[in-house]
Amino acid sequence: MSKTILTSNASPNLLSISELPLVIHPGPIHEHWTQAARGKGFDLIARVRDRLHVALRCHACGGVHAARHSVVMSAQPLCPHCIEARWRQTALTAGLIWLGRDTAHRHYGRYGLPCGHESRRQFKFVERMALGEVAARCDACLIAREDAEAQRFGWTRLGRDLKGNASYRHYLHACGHTQRIAVGNMKWGQCDCSGCGQSWTAKPSFIYLLDIRHFGTGRHFLKLGYSAHPLKRHKHQLGLPKEAVVEVLRVVAMPTGHEACAREKATHADLRRTHPESLVPHPEYADLMNVASEVYRPESLPLLHENLNRIEADIVDAARIRGPDLVSTLSRTAGPTDPDAMPDNLKAHPLTVSARRIPARTRARRKPLPRTSPRDRSPMLRRHPGRPG
Ligand SMILES: [Zn+2]
Ligand SMILES: [Zn+2]
Ligand SMILES: [Zn+2]
Repeated sequence: MSKTILTSNASPNLLSISELPLVIHPGPIHEHWTQAARGKGFDLIARVRDRLHVALRCHACGGVHAARHSVVMSAQPLCPHCIEARWRQTALTAGLIWLGRDTAHRHYGRYGLPCGHESRRQFKFVERMALGEVAARCDACLIAREDAEAQRFGWTRLGRDLKGNASYRHYLHACGHTQRIAVGNMKWGQCDCSGCGQSWTAKPSFIYLLDIRHFGTGRHFLKLGYSAHPLKRHKHQLGLPKEAVVEVLRVVAMPTGHEACAREKATHADLRRTHPESLVPHPEYADLMNVASEVYRPESLPLLHENLNRIEADIVDAARIRGPDLVSTLSRTAGPTDPDAMPDNLKAHPLTVSARRIPARTRARRKPLPRTSPRDRSPMLRRHPGRPG
């Protein structure tokens, strides 16, 4: 018995998901099958594979697929080519590239992400993405980002938390010790190594950007600065009245207080030279907070973000280049700060800090702190020896 191979005359990529070419199965094609198929949007073109299957050509797309004749008779056959075309279109709407089905799971497809990585996602999830309800996070990028954050402080991200806590990761310190650390704490450099005893208080600092509004007088400023405790900074040291509203717009973790100070100062000097209009003259805020400079107009926000982007990129590059040497740098910068002095909300949710509006619960203390105050533990104030009192 000779076998005929049936192939579709549709474009070759339409054949990829059915089992074409199909082997013709001998036997009559019953007229009532043909009629039923036509009524359901298909031409029945052959019996294929075995006595149970027929080949159907879709009226909508011309693609051919095999279906059981019982499905043709008692249900609605579904064209896999049309379904795939829909998945492809949904992916496009969602900003993804359709790469094909996940052969291991019928509810999943493979997608190209905008960052270039590939990811498997549930069709339902991609539909919701296309509707704008959810966004795809790239796991590969997330891991790379977390590792870069860890590298800044002399750690390497090894993987998931061995105890299965979703907010922890398993890290390797430059000294060879491994331990679990909350990913949020790592972001902020709060990572004591229990192997070599290096304490996080010995190292990091932060450049921060605050949005400060005083509705009573309609004033609105941006404040750039650096501190080991950006949240405490405005609570305890800016001396803002309690009705002022402060939002932490951005925090850039720096490996050392020294580097934070140098970069922040350089940025300020640069802006003073190139964009003098972005600076707010001291008398405009002298009664509102007890700092002498680094107060900017709200319009200069993109400019400040640009500068912070540059600093952030440099820090990551430097960490990559320096690698383990970072640790020795860090250990030389032991500071007097106390880890327990970190506010609890900062310990628990450091990642959410930039998204929240935090009313300044500072006591209404408008007079600047004396520079020699024992509570003045921020390098922020100590670096202005010559500022007006
Ligand atoms: Zn079709
Ligand atoms: Zn990615
Ligand atoms: Zn260590």
